[in-house]
Amino acid sequence: MINDVVIAGGGPNGLMLACELALAGVRPIVLERLAAPSTEPKANGLLGQVVKMVDRRGLYERLSGSQGPPQSNTAYFMFAAMGLDLSLLADSPVYGLAVPQLHIVRVLEERARELGVEIRREHEVTGLTQDDDSVTVDVSGPDGTYQLSSRYLVGADGAHSVTRKLAGIGFPGVTYDRTTVRSAHATVPAEWVDPATGALNVPGYGAVPPFLPHRTERGGFSYAPLPGHSPLINTSEWDQPEPDGPMTLDELRESVRRVLGADVPLGPPAGEGPHVLRRLTSGNTRMAERFSDRRVFLVGDAAHVYAAAGGGPGLNLGLQDAINLGWKLAAELRGSAPVGLLDSYETERRQAARRMIMNAQAQSALIGPGSDITELRELFTELLGYRDNVQHLAELIAGADVRYDMGESGGHSLAGRFAPDMSLLTADGPVRLAELTRSARPLLVDLTESESLSGVLSGRHATAVDLVTARPEPPAPAATALLLRPDSYVAWATSSPHPGPEELKTLQAALERWFG
Ligand SMILES: Cc1cc2nc3c(=O)[nH]c(=O)nc-3n(C[C@H](O)[C@H](O)[C@H](O)COP(=O)(O)OP(=O)(O)OC[C@H]3O[C@@H](n4cnc5c(N)ncnc54)[C@H](O)[C@@H]3O)c2cc1C
Repeated sequence: MINDVVIAGGGPNGLMLACELALAGVRPIVLERLAAPSTEPKANGLLGQVVKMVDRRGLYERLSGSQGPPQSNTAYFMFAAMGLDLSLLADSPVYGLAVPQLHIVRVLEERARELGVEIRREHEVTGLTQDDDSVTVDVSGPDGTYQLSSRYLVGADGAHSVTRKLAGIGFPGVTYDRTTVRSAHATVPAEWVDPATGALNVPGYGAVPPFLPHRTERGGFSYAPLPGHSPLINTSEWDQPEPDGPMTLDELRESVRRVLGADVPLGPPAGEGPHVLRRLTSGNTRMAERFSDRRVFLVGDAAHVYAAAGGGPGLNLGLQDAINLGWKLAAELRGSAPVGLLDSYETERRQAARRMIMNAQAQSALIGPGSDITELRELFTELLGYRDNVQHLAELIAGADVRYDMGESGGHSLAGRFAPDMSLLTADGPVRLAELTRSARPLLVDLTESESLSGVLSGRHATAVDLVTARPEPPAPAATALLLRPDSYVAWATSSPHPGPEELKTLQAALERWFG
């Protein structure tokens, strides 16, 4: 039997893709080699536009444990360890959701199972072949080896992706081996923590604000008092001799002394583990040559990886790769996909990944050693006094500056962009746009004065696209009508109170281009 989609890898991005496919009526099979989610501490949360995206799928409450909508409640952030005063911005895109990756994986796995996804743990993909009609993977499972055929295979199997290698897709980029990054959960003297600001006051050095990386001429330092753990302490240094043996807390203490020029009496971590105690001597920034090879697609770290300096963009990008691919693959399987829809996955997500590579490499360069970099940073700090520059970098960090090509329907300033949040009043009562997108279906929102779009959906669009007629609640949205793709990107918009024939023509073009 040929299945629809096999996903190699049940990490966050594979599981998110599985949820998206299931919402679109496809039943994928997830093959995951581990018996249980990895407890290796990785991401400490989600940053930027992806936080809004999880809200658009009703996952914000489950992930955060608090009620939505998400708030961009951080007034201050960092770019390459330089302050970014977000309070200058009317609407900061830098949303944060502090949850460990393990929790994200558990929530997504629970959601995927609720949606009926079959997840086979301890099943490892070891080989693949494909022809014009299908892909067959060799799988090693608890009861031996077997083959599994599907119409599509998606490699969500991480940075060392077996799928990518078996499909013969190269992974060019750079390895940074000048930097040694040391990290540990450790206690700090309670009286050093400023109760008002949360900063760590280091005698002989000064105040280190929480969560924000700090550069000195000798290296980097950060102090992150994450909830439920002893603080996470990080240092980075350049051109260090390769240390012998496993990482120790003493090694971190010495590193802190070199970087800050002051002692911080770090104690062993308190509370339940797993605790981080890690030394990394290299990082990679790489992007796959292609995000697909005929019937094989790549998402997440299998398609791109970033050195840590980029502000943790891995999940921001990867989860949105999955959301971009899911509805397109489902349409292809249903036979309703217009020509070129599946190809747009690579065009759109490569563009997003390219921005993050620039972000990661630029930040790495700007936190490097040397007095010339120190001067460059002074110049940058001056530039960061201007609101427009802060806006530009905030959008880059948040992954909110992506604008997809919407062709002839792309005339409106919102077209091609992630739809902004808005509050609406429908006949059923008040609702947030984010609540209307949870079914992951195409959505036409009519806020015009005369409900001008009521007859506009005909033929298969009448069943394939949801129409919501509503009054906007303040603040007034930037459009009177919008067509949203399932990934919440605006395929068409107008600001006219009564859209005329020309606008309705571009709306029809958008409907056909994206939904056949
Ligand atoms: C130390 C560290 C800190 C990080 N911090 C951040 C951060 O703060 N913010 C952020 O956004 N990102 C961060 N990242 C990056 C983030 O963890 C990754 O972007 C994310 O894990 C990618 O998810 P994924 O699902 O693509 O791949 P993975 O999480 O690597 O999942 C891949 C899955 O595939 C499985 N698998 C592999 N091979 C096979 C096979 N052959 N068959 C079946 N299954 C297979 C693996 O077991 C795994 O479960 C960090 C990473 C590290 C290492």
